[in-house]
This record gives sequence, structure tokens and C-alpha cells, in this order.
Amino acid sequence: MNFERIPRVTRLLDPRKDYAETRIESEMRMDPLTGFSGRIAHFAAGPWPTMDLEALNQTSLSQGCPFCPDMVSKVTPKFPEEITSQGRFRQGEAIVFPNLSPYDAHSAVTVITKAHLVPVNEFSAQHWEDALGISIEYFRAVRHYENHIGYGLIGANYMPMAGASLLHPHLQIYATDRPGNWLKSQIEASQRYYNEHAHIFWQDLIEAEKSLEERYLASTGTVEWIVPFVPLSFIGDVEAIFPRRFTILDLTPEDIGAFSQGLLYILRYMKDTNIYSFNLAFYPGQSEGDRTWVHARISFRGMINPVLHSPDVSVIRQLLDEPFTTVYPEKTATELKPYFSSL
Ligand SMILES: [Zn+2]
Repeated sequence: MNFERIPRVTRLLDPRKDYAETRIESEMRMDPLTGFSGRIAHFAAGPWPTMDLEALNQTSLSQGCPFCPDMVSKVTPKFPEEITSQGRFRQGEAIVFPNLSPYDAHSAVTVITKAHLVPVNEFSAQHWEDALGISIEYFRAVRHYENHIGYGLIGANYMPMAGASLLHPHLQIYATDRPGNWLKSQIEASQRYYNEHAHIFWQDLIEAEKSLEERYLASTGTVEWIVPFVPLSFIGDVEAIFPRRFTILDLTPEDIGAFSQGLLYILRYMKDTNIYSFNLAFYPGQSEGDRTWVHARISFRGMINPVLHSPDVSVIRQLLDEPFTTVYPEKTATELKPYFSSL
């Protein structure tokens, strides 16, 4: 397992030190699976300011919300009979209905909670177990109808800074034979790795991270947690790996419970550090032949300058397709680890 780092040192005459020469370190890193590169420039991001969530809540409610309990059964679409005779899928507070702006032929939305605004520390593990569990039930129904689902993708934009158009917590889920550029390159690299080493990359990754003790966090039941070597977020990512699970339909209720518990620890960390927003994506294969264990990434989102509402995606990410982060993953892991030791 090659964790390749390319350190750089910049020399400059620093106005903050009466123009004395200062050396500033930065780093490039290569993803050990795909070789995809990222940059770490450790500048003074954070501490992050608190946000007035209630003001945001009121603004968003004034627009009306199709996902609130009094509206969701009236204004959201229903599935045709061949997917479910019930119209929509429900489990606990979660409800799944077709996406009016579909990403593919089978494309749906899962509303996670009855509450319109849920601060990160107010989710329960049950919320996520129900939302993810019923999303997988939807994929089962698609498979029953189509005999296959391709890749069963689950993603979330939680809160506006992560791209959510509505405050009400929800997932985007769709079945597709086109997994998208990122997952496609991971699968191709996982297959290459398997052909060269006769091992699953993801198994070797967990073993390498466990022995290094730099970015490994913990296991929660059947799920392993690490901080990725190359973050995609400007303030940090966390990755969950589901050993020996190849497709989204391989995930058991036990796996989903274990994931939801770990996610709760991360949400508590977010609360304590004033991180209000994240993206979540599951990366499944479509069969064992993809040689990819299901994994999921939580990517923290925020504004690079909250005062000016500057988004965290700028030219380097948008047009040069290179992630840029301000926090070393090893620091993120050190901060997160105590939250997992409350196991
Ligand atoms: Zn709502």
C-alpha cells in the first residue's frame, strides 16, 4: 500500500514578521487506489462561527416544504404499481417516493425525518437506519421488476452549504448502469489491484490503516471507519468500509445499524466544531466482479469565508478537478477518534 506524499516548502519574506524569511509547508498526496491527487495547504481555516439555524429554518419554511408531514402525501409523486402497490415506501419516519427530477430511469428521494430542521446532534441512529433501510427496500423492488439494478447509489446533501435545495433532511437514491466518473475509476482501479495482487484493495487498506494508526478510527460492529489519505473536502472527510459487501443489496440491517451508530459519532463531532453541513455518498459495486467493497464517504462542507458566504469549491476543484484541503487528515483522525471511543 503506497501512501505517496510530495512535500513542498515555500520561502517568502513575511510581512507579519517584519519581512523575515519564513518557510511554509504544503503537500500533494496521491490516492493509494486511483492515484488521484489532492493538495493540503494548511492555512488558518476555522474556528467556524455558529450559525443562526432558527433564522434559516424560518426563511426556508416561508418558501413552503413539500417534505413536511402535512404535505408529503399530497404533493410528492407515487410509484407505479410494478414498483409498489402502496405508492410510496415507508419505514419509521422515513418515506421514499419518485424523484420529480430523476437522475436515471429509477430515481427516488428518501425523506429521513418528520422534522423539517434537524440540527446534526438531534438525529437518532434510528432515523438513519430507517432511511437507509427503506432506500435499500426500494432498490430491491427495482431489482424484482428489472432483474438487476446496476449500481444502487445513495447520496445526501445535508443543509444548503452542501448543495441541498431544501432544508428538510433527505437522500437522493437511484439505480443506474453508469456509476459516475469517481466510482467508475475506483472500480477499475480495484479490479487492476485485484488482478495484480490477488487481494481486495479495501481489505489491504483497512489492514494498512490499522497498523499505521494515523487515520484509522474504529469499527462499529461490522463497519470499519478511517479518515481518507486524500480528502475531497476542504475541511475533512470520513470513510466507512463494509467488509465483504460488494453491492448495495448485500448490506444487512446489522450493517446499516453499525453505520448509523458511527455516523452519529461523526455528527456529534460536527456539532462540537460548528460544522453544519455534509455530503454523504455510498459507493457500491454492481457485483462481486467489481472487486470493490461497499464504502461510504462523509465529506464536511462549509464556506471558506462565512462572512462573505464564499463557497468551499473554487477554481482548483471546479476547473482543475483537484481537491484542496486545509486540514491534515491525521489531525482530523486525532480529533474524531475520541468520539468513537464512547462505544
Ligand atoms: Zn419540511
